[in-house]
Amino acid sequence: MKAGTRPDRPWDEEAFRILADGIRDGDSYAAIGRRLGKSEKAVRGKVFTVYLTENADKVRELMGDGKWGNGAPVPTVKQGIVLSRHEATTKRNLAALAFVLKQRAISLGWDPYWQRKMCQHWDDMEGCTAGGENCDICVDFKRMEPQFCSRCGRDFFERKQNRFCQECREARKRQAQRRWARMNDAR
Ligand SMILES: [Zn+2]
Repeated sequence: MKAGTRPDRPWDEEAFRILADGIRDGDSYAAIGRRLGKSEKAVRGKVFTVYLTENADKVRELMGDGKWGNGAPVPTVKQGIVLSRHEATTKRNLAALAFVLKQRAISLGWDPYWQRKMCQHWDDMEGCTAGGENCDICVDFKRMEPQFCSRCGRDFFERKQNRFCQECREARKRQAQRRWARMNDAR
């Protein structure tokens, strides 16, 4: 412990109250940190994680007269990635990933299986064949492999193996029907 600092204390309710009041009073992060027995960097990190900015004026404005966390913005996916890097030393990788995925899920309207369209394990009748409860916490996601259409040369995504893409399969069917009709007319 450095001289002049208090022992490190947890981020409990009291600590957040001191932090909120300090910012409201216009105190520097260094001064707030000394009060909490934490480094300026730790205080800045905490502020950024919640308010997505270290600018105390902006934080003061967002927080208003409310408690710590009041008025905090909802992070976007991109910000979620930055935040999870920011906390990389304290969070397990999976927790960080879940956070980012959750932001993604929110932006897509809370669909619990929001990755199903690209996942090899999804079955339209049976649901998730890997037995996952949702895509947020899933570690079995398997991206569908692109397949190559031998007729039009495009890449396409389908769970079942196919020589031709959906459009080409339909086109071939129509061709066959026309051929059949011509042959029957000619008779
Ligand atoms: Zn094709």
